Amino acid sequence: MDLKNRRVLVVGLARSGVAAAKLLHKMGAQVVTNDASPRDSLRFAIETLQPLGIPVVSDGHPFTLLDSTSLIVKNPGIPYHMPLIAEAMARDIPIITEVELAFHATHTPIIGITGSNGKTTTTSLVGAMFLKAGIPARVAGNIGVPLSEAVLSSQDESALIVELSSFQLQGTRDFRPHIATVLNLYPTHLDYHGDFEAYVRAKEKICIRQGQDDWLVLNMDNEHTRHFADHARAKVIWFSRLAPVPRGAYVYENHIYVREAEGAPPICLLSMDQIKLPGTHNLENILAATATAFYAGVPLEAIVATLQTFRGVEHRLEFIRCVDGVDYYNDSKATNPKAALSAIRALAKPLVLLLGGLERGDDLKELSEGLRGRAKAVIALGQSRERMADAARQAGVPEVHIASSFSEAVALAAQTAQHGDAVLLSPAAASWDQFKSFEERGCIFKKLVNKL
Ligand code: ADP
Repeated sequence: MDLKNRRVLVVGLARSGVAAAKLLHKMGAQVVTNDASPRDSLRFAIETLQPLGIPVVSDGHPFTLLDSTSLIVKNPGIPYHMPLIAEAMARDIPIITEVELAFHATHTPIIGITGSNGKTTTTSLVGAMFLKAGIPARVAGNIGVPLSEAVLSSQDESALIVELSSFQLQGTRDFRPHIATVLNLYPTHLDYHGDFEAYVRAKEKICIRQGQDDWLVLNMDNEHTRHFADHARAKVIWFSRLAPVPRGAYVYENHIYVREAEGAPPICLLSMDQIKLPGTHNLENILAATATAFYAGVPLEAIVATLQTFRGVEHRLEFIRCVDGVDYYNDSKATNPKAALSAIRALAKPLVLLLGGLERGDDLKELSEGLRGRAKAVIALGQSRERMADAARQAGVPEVHIASSFSEAVALAAQTAQHGDAVLLSPAAASWDQFKSFEERGCIFKKLVNKL
């Protein structure tokens, strides 16, 4: 991508936009940046970009920015119907996201990981496997460090392990990971993409540019990811919780196996009881990570050693401590009913569940069904507490309490739980009714539990 002296507009100045602007500057482009926020909230961007002579246009999105612009790098969260972007499309100006830009600026092989749920866990797991093997690699993308930033500070790693959202993928054109992994696909983010088909098309962009020398790791158990194999040019590797696969990773009689090639003898890695990460949903992530790392050249010993020690990512079904025979878990990242259901199904103990947060009017029917027979008590909290309490009562949960504050909820949970139970914060709702983020909610929960 030759951008020398071409005018490129970066829209949206979160951390990834700032990194993209720096990368464009290094590529010799004439960069202009823009964000609708007021100037005083863009201090980080201004302090980083102005010394490089990159203008920061704030407080709106004037159409004049588009004059003589030959490319737009758009923040993935900005919808395509936003007036400036719609006008750019009408003027036929190409629009990409920063992962596409970063792809053109690196020769390091990319391992791209996407799916509806489990992206961060799987990406971290693959990163941990590389680390254990002593192979230098960088974890980046939707998971913290933007890909453009990783590329800017790259030190000849052997791989970039990249978590990719559908929003990021939708803005790609040539993006071609050497290994692409697709975990699962469920109807989510439909407000952004319009319908499920458009969402699946965005996800499929992870593999449509791949060639015969690339690998595509797919979930055999999910009907939508299975169909990605129909058009794949890359070599397909499977993973499955349910049955042996011709090539890839799978579970059979309580053990994890890999089979390198069709017809090759399967290799048994370890038994399920040696794995530290709880829950069947995590088994999907474990198999995906195992297949991905194996075909990326990570030795099996490092993969096995990681699975024997990796306990998960903070705020995702994270074990905190055991108090008086009660296990406490933080699953603050469960910001929707589907994610909470995975956690509820994952723990085999009687559950005292903390549920509730931002009220988004989500359908709670499936969640309510999932509580039946699983939760012995529900402590409902936050803006959606009344509806959460109703869902619990409908499921016949024996004890339902409504808490007026977060600390009261934790105290109620501790009083209710008995030896052998688990207390689980898996709120099935976003955190913004009371907290800045799901991370803040999870950290406060851990602090309160550590004080018990
Ligand atoms: P993502 O990055 O895709 O949001 P995470 O790894 O951060 O996924 O996990 C978020 C939540 O989703 C977890 O707290 C867990 O409850 C649920 N989850 C994780 N992996 C899966 C999976 N493979 N299938 C279904 N739910 C999952």
